Amino acid sequence: MPMKIYINGKLYDKADAKISVYDHGLLYGDGVFEGIRSYAGNVFRLGEHLDRLWNSAKAIRLELPLSKQEMAKAIEKTLAANGIEDGYVRVVVTRGCGTLGLDPNKCSDPQVIIIADRISLYPDELYEKGLEIITVSTVRNHPAALNPRIKSLNYLNNILAKIEGLQAGCIEALMLNHNGQVAECTGDNLFLVRDGRILTPPMEAGILEGITRDVVIALAREQDIEVRETPLTKHDVYIADECFLTGTAAEVVPVVTVDGRSNGGGTPRPIT
Ligand code: PMP
Repeated sequence: MPMKIYINGKLYDKADAKISVYDHGLLYGDGVFEGIRSYAGNVFRLGEHLDRLWNSAKAIRLELPLSKQEMAKAIEKTLAANGIEDGYVRVVVTRGCGTLGLDPNKCSDPQVIIIADRISLYPDELYEKGLEIITVSTVRNHPAALNPRIKSLNYLNNILAKIEGLQAGCIEALMLNHNGQVAECTGDNLFLVRDGRILTPPMEAGILEGITRDVVIALAREQDIEVRETPLTKHDVYIADECFLTGTAAEVVPVVTVDGRSNGGGTPRPIT
C-alpha cells in the first residue's frame, strides 16, 4: 500500500504528493515545521508541538489556515491512513506559492503538509555505546538574525554544522553560540551531569526549546534531581560526568566523548 501524504486537507499517494516550485518554502526556506512522535497510537505531547508550531508561525508572520484542533485531527487522520501507531509525524507549513521575488505578501495560500512514517534516527547500538561527537566551527544562528526558537524550514545553519560533523566521522555535532557558549547539537538539545546535578543551556543561549528537553527537565525535577538551565562552556562539557542529547527523533541518547574527551569514561550512566 503506497504511503499517504496529507496536503491541505486531502490525502495523496506519495508519488502524487506535490507542491509548486514557486512555493516560498522551497525557494527561500520560508515556512515552519514540527517533528512529532506517536507511541502506541498516542501522539506524544501533541499540544506542546502545536503550540510551538503556532509560535514559530507567529514569529514569521505566517497565519495558519486551520485551527489547532483541525491540525490535531489531520495528524491523527494521516497516522491512521498509513496504519502507523509507533512512528514519526512531520508537519510542514510553507508560506505558499509566490513570485520569484522575496515578498511574502505575494504568496497565496500556505501549504499544510503532514507526513507520517516510521523512524529510527541512530543505530540501536549507539543507545548502549553512546555517541562520539565533536564541536564544530559553524556558529549557531544569532538569535537576532534568525532565532533558533523558530523551528523554520531554513535549516542550513544546522546542515552546515552536520556536514562538518560528518566530515569528521560524527553523526551529531555540538554547536556553540556567537558568544562561544554551548548552544545545542544540529538536531538535538544537550545535557550534562556533574556532581549529581543536571545542567543544560538556557533558552538565552540561542537554542530550540526542545519538547523532549522540557520532558526530561520535568521528569528529573519530579525525582528530586536538581536541574540548572545555565550558560555552559566547552570546558563544562569536557569535565562532565555524563552527557546526553534529547530530541523527538533521537529520544535520549548518551554521548561518550566530545572532542575526544570522555564523559565519565562511558558506562554506567546512572542519570542518563
Ligand atoms: N534542537 C534542534 C536544532 C532541533 O532541530 C530539535 C528537533 N529535532 C531539537 C533541538 C529537539 O527538539 P524536540 O525535543 O522538540 O524534538
